Amino acid sequence: MKNFGDMKSSRLEAVQVCLSSLTDVPVFIWDSRTQASIAPISEESILSHLIPGGRKESVCQNEFKKGLDLSVQTEEMVFYKCGDDLNYFLIPIRISEDVNWVIVGGKQGERQQGGGAYNEGRGEWERPSEKVPSETKDTLFESARILQSVGTALLENIFYRNQYQLKSTLLTTLLNIGNQFKKDATSFDLNMSLLINTLGILFGFKRAGVFFRENPDGPHKAIAVYGENKEKLYQRETTLDILYDRYKNGKPYIFCDELLNLLKSKLPEDVVSCHLFPIYEKENEPSMITLAVLDTSLGKDDAKMIHSFCRQAGSIQENIELQNHLTRHKKIVQSFSKFTTIVESPRYLEALHENILEQVTQLLSAEQGSLMVLNPENKELAIKAMTGVNKTLLEMLSIKPGEGIAGQVFQDGNPLLVQNLSDDPRVRQNPNPRYRTSSFVSIPLKLRSEPFGVINLADKTTGKVFSNDDLNLLMAIGGYISIALERHQLYEKTRELKRIAITDSLTGLLNRRYFHERLLEEVERTRRHQLPVSLIMVDIDDFKSFNDRYGHQGGDEILRFFSHAIRKYIRAIDVPCRYGGEEFTVILPQTSKEDAEIIANRLCRGIAEKETLHRKFSAYGTLAVSVGLATFPEDAKTPEELIRNADRALYKAKVQGKNQVVVFNGNQFS
Ligand code: GH3
Ligand code: MG
Ligand code: MG
Repeated sequence: MKNFGDMKSSRLEAVQVCLSSLTDVPVFIWDSRTQASIAPISEESILSHLIPGGRKESVCQNEFKKGLDLSVQTEEMVFYKCGDDLNYFLIPIRISEDVNWVIVGGKQGERQQGGGAYNEGRGEWERPSEKVPSETKDTLFESARILQSVGTALLENIFYRNQYQLKSTLLTTLLNIGNQFKKDATSFDLNMSLLINTLGILFGFKRAGVFFRENPDGPHKAIAVYGENKEKLYQRETTLDILYDRYKNGKPYIFCDELLNLLKSKLPEDVVSCHLFPIYEKENEPSMITLAVLDTSLGKDDAKMIHSFCRQAGSIQENIELQNHLTRHKKIVQSFSKFTTIVESPRYLEALHENILEQVTQLLSAEQGSLMVLNPENKELAIKAMTGVNKTLLEMLSIKPGEGIAGQVFQDGNPLLVQNLSDDPRVRQNPNPRYRTSSFVSIPLKLRSEPFGVINLADKTTGKVFSNDDLNLLMAIGGYISIALERHQLYEKTRELKRIAITDSLTGLLNRRYFHERLLEEVERTRRHQLPVSLIMVDIDDFKSFNDRYGHQGGDEILRFFSHAIRKYIRAIDVPCRYGGEEFTVILPQTSKEDAEIIANRLCRGIAEKETLHRKFSAYGTLAVSVGLATFPEDAKTPEELIRNADRALYKAKVQGKNQVVVFNGNQFS
């Protein structure tokens, strides 16, 4: 260590910290000349037990020493799995004849047993029985690959700190860093921190931050930071535009050391100078991603290099973003076509609201959501679907237009995107504990410019806030949802009309028209399956006298009472209908004459004995019915004949003294 002086040793430590944070793998750098790590290793580190020392050398330590020698001699990366099930790698960095550093890093495996070296030539671990779980192996390889390229560049640069070397190092690093950038949509922050750490070490930044502006009017927020007091910088919202406006003037990058302007830009108060390098900017728009190097003097050449580096990194990141955009676009197109399917297919009509909500929450990666539709009768918003809430419970929930956030969105007809609930003046609400994050989006659903519903989404699965992109996407789908919902309403109306067409309006029972259709169906079924169908005809006894005494309305009330009572004495599969006046029919599908007779008697007795009319009518005795029964096919060849014969039996019951059941019997009726 002594050879490098204090400055270098502290920068070596910085490299060690940087390498660990880049890959999330604990790392130390071993100096093979001094046989020690260049910075102390915490005793808690899973790597610490590899370091030789103490009275007794362990097997792990011996293996580690062998590994060090092997990697330095062969100048190749070596992988090991130690007895404590630690999977680790050794990356030799040969700086000069007598300076060899080895980057050591590792991850704890999942098994307790282990031992054996990884043979790169054969591409497998020496002892096949001690297989490393492939996931651990893959992430470890990936980390080692990053560390080899970035580590080499950083360490070489510290050793040969001269411009020529720096340039070539920078070029290699630049190429490598681009390759190291992670390609998925969520890795932007990670990539920027890779960039700032690398540049910070290469150019000796005192302090720096990568600032990102999500929308053109918003603040520049620090998403990756480096150097002294970096905590103060992280997530800080600044107005770097002020500096850009004042100093840019067509220059590729800018420098400012005027305190007043630095203060105006809302950088920390102790900052005395600032270089701004645009990483990514759209035409005619202030930079969206900016590297700010603070309190660091940079030579012209350094600044130029940093500038070109930032530009390159920016275009690599832009490509990644475009790629992700494309993927997202594909996803959108796919879900649009799924929506069209939902809109067009009648099979989704039953659970349309749930389906829509499921699609929308998936598309916008929201954990929670609700769909509300205007009820034209009471002019309230009925909650038709809500994540995690059961449908029957929802039927009781509704809100008035103007009430709460959704009610407001409905009334104003304008969408609402809230990124932080507690400091948004439009809502001014305390975060609801039901929600994990304080960002949500609500849009009105409109049909021919008339609002008729609202969709609300909250809690992005990533934990992030909803963006303008999300809002636009939701608005675009909103049109489809509206069409689907209108279709659903028409469908419901048709269903209702159908229901009305077959229902008797006074009693709510099925009407005569339905009765004939259904009887025909049941007779057909009987013909196919050889199972009998029975028919009961019921006529209320002396009904005229009720009318005479209580008036027509009183009579109606008794008809309703009877229609309700009749269900108690028949089975769920039986079909009661109002045949006309005070006459009723009951179809008993797949029921023999014997079984039907039991039911008919139960009905007749039940009405006479149990169904007492309420007080208003009680002055005039109880209700009684006469019942006629006939069965297909034994009593009839056609539905018409079946009705006729059941009616004949009923007539006989009347003649015989009412309040009784008569079963049709061919012999007696001929
Ligand atoms: P029974 O059947 O025992 O021989 O005597 P009844 O008095 O019930 O016989 P009838 O069939 O002669 O009279 C039926 C009466 O029912 C005639 C009619 O005024 C009355 N009626 C028919 N439809 C309705 C209705 O929708 N509402 C009311 N209130 N009365 C009705
Ligand atoms: Mg009658
Ligand atoms: Mg009658």
